[in-house]
Amino acid sequence: MKYVSTREGTAAVTGTQAIIRGIAPDGGLYVPESVPVIDEDFIRALGDMDYRARAVAVLELYLDEFSHGELEAIAAASYGGNFDDPAIAPLRTLDGQTAYLELWHGPTSAFKDMALQIMPRLLTASLRKNGERRTVSILVATSGDTGKAALEGFKDVPGTRVMVFYPRDGVSQVQKLQMATQQGSNVNVVAVNGNFDDAQTGVKRIFADRDFARVLDGRGYFLSSANSINWGRLAPQIAYYFSAYCDMAKAGLVKLGECVDFCVPTGNFGDILAGWYAKRMGLPVGRLICASNENNVLADFIATGVYDKNRPFHVTCSPSMDILVSSNLERLLYCLTGDPAAVRGFMADLSGAGRYDVGAALGDKVRAEFAGGFCRDADAKAEIGRLWREKGYLADTHTAVASRVLADIRQREGVRRPTVVLSTASPFKFGAAVLEALGAVTSETGPELVDELAALTGLAAPGPLTGLGEKKVRFEAWVEKEDMEQAVSAFLC
Ligand SMILES: *Cc1c(COP(=O)(O)O)cnc(C)c1O
Repeated sequence: MKYVSTREGTAAVTGTQAIIRGIAPDGGLYVPESVPVIDEDFIRALGDMDYRARAVAVLELYLDEFSHGELEAIAAASYGGNFDDPAIAPLRTLDGQTAYLELWHGPTSAFKDMALQIMPRLLTASLRKNGERRTVSILVATSGDTGKAALEGFKDVPGTRVMVFYPRDGVSQVQKLQMATQQGSNVNVVAVNGNFDDAQTGVKRIFADRDFARVLDGRGYFLSSANSINWGRLAPQIAYYFSAYCDMAKAGLVKLGECVDFCVPTGNFGDILAGWYAKRMGLPVGRLICASNENNVLADFIATGVYDKNRPFHVTCSPSMDILVSSNLERLLYCLTGDPAAVRGFMADLSGAGRYDVGAALGDKVRAEFAGGFCRDADAKAEIGRLWREKGYLADTHTAVASRVLADIRQREGVRRPTVVLSTASPFKFGAAVLEALGAVTSETGPELVDELAALTGLAAPGPLTGLGEKKVRFEAWVEKEDMEQAVSAFLC
C-alpha cells in the first residue's frame, strides 16, 4: 500500500517511508492511497482474539511491508506487561447503551501509550527496512500527554533521540513532573514560554527549515515526528475501535452488524480520525461525536463548515485538548474531497487569515458522519461528580468532557443509541480537578494529590504515578518560542 501527501495527492511513498518522514516534504500529511475494506467475517474473527492479535489484524492491512510474524512480535512487545490490565484496552459497561473504553492502562496513564508503545518499534523496523543509518531525532510538541508517552516509548531505543517541548504553564503538575523526571540517555525535555499552539508551530517551523536539516544531516541526524500527524501514531489507534466494537457485541450491547456511536474527547483530531478510518473500512460505526472543551473550534467547524482559530485560547482542566489548530483535520478534508489543491487552499488560508471555509457541500459531508459538541470546565467537573455518585465510575477531566457532550446530545435528541465513550486518561493524572469535582477540599497541588484521590475513592492509583514526588528532577530548562531551534541544535551536537 502506498501513501500520498494531502497537499499533493501524488508522489506516493511506502508505509515505512511515511512513518520515517512523519510529515511530507510539502508540509502535507501522509494518508493511505485507498482505505482497506473488511467484512463481517473479519469482525467476527477478531471477537475471539486478544488485543494484540486484533491490533495485528488491523495493522497488517495498512503496513504490508511487515510480515505477519514481524507485526506479531512487535505487538507482543508493545502490548504486554507494560500495561496494568491484561485486556490492554478494557471496555467498562455502565448501562445498557453506554460503555467506556479505557485507553490509559499503559505506562504513562493516558491513551497516547496505545500508539506510542508500538510506534517506536514500527519506526526502528522501518529505518532498518530502508537502510537508514542516521540517528532519527524525534521532535515533539506536547499539550502534556504525548510528551511523556513519547519519552517513555523512545527511551534508550538505539538509533533514536527524542526531544519534547511543552507549554510552560499549560500542563498539570503531575504531567510536568512525569516529564521532568524522565529516565533515559537519549531524551531531553524543554518548556516553552507560550501555549501549546506556540510549541506546535515552533516544531513545525523547525521541520520546515531545510538549512537546519542540512546542518543536522552533516552531524548524522535527521528529524521526524511522533505527534499524531505521523501515520505510525494513527494506524495503531484504528485497532481499538475494532476492539471496542467486538467487546460491545460480546457484552450484548449490540448485535454484530448493528451500529455503535463513538464519543471522543478531541484535541488534535487524531484519535477521532482513527475512528473515521475504522468506519471507512466497514466497521459498523454510526456517528463519531467530536467533544471539545471550551476551545471549541472543532464544534464550531462541524456546525458551520468554518474553521476559525481567531479566538481566545483557554487554559482548561482538560489541557490535552487545549488546542486551536487540529492538525489531523487536514487528513479528513483530503479524504472527503480527494482534492489536494483544495486542501492547499484551506491550509494557506489557515496560516494566513487563521480561518478557512469549506463551503456548504463539504460541510454537509462532514456532518453526515460527525456530530460536535463542547463542554466548559464547570460542566465537566459536574459530570465527574455525577458519574462517580450515580455509576461509581471515576472519570478524568477529558473523558468527562466527552461524557457530558454525549449526555447533552442524548437529552436533546431524546434517544440513547449504543455508544462507546473513549476514556483517554487515568483520573489520577488530573487529581486536582477530579478532587475538586468530588467536592474535596485540598491545599495540595503536586503529586500528593495522587495519594489523596486514592484515599478518598478507595481506588488504586496507577503504579508509575505513585511516588512521583520522590523521583529526581532531571529537566528544568525553558526557552522563548523563538529559541526552540537553537535548543534542538544544542541537543543534537
Ligand atoms: C491527546 C489527548 C486527547 C486528544 O486526542 P487527539 O488525538 O489530540 O484529538 C484527549 N484526551 C487525552 C487525555 C489526551 O492525552
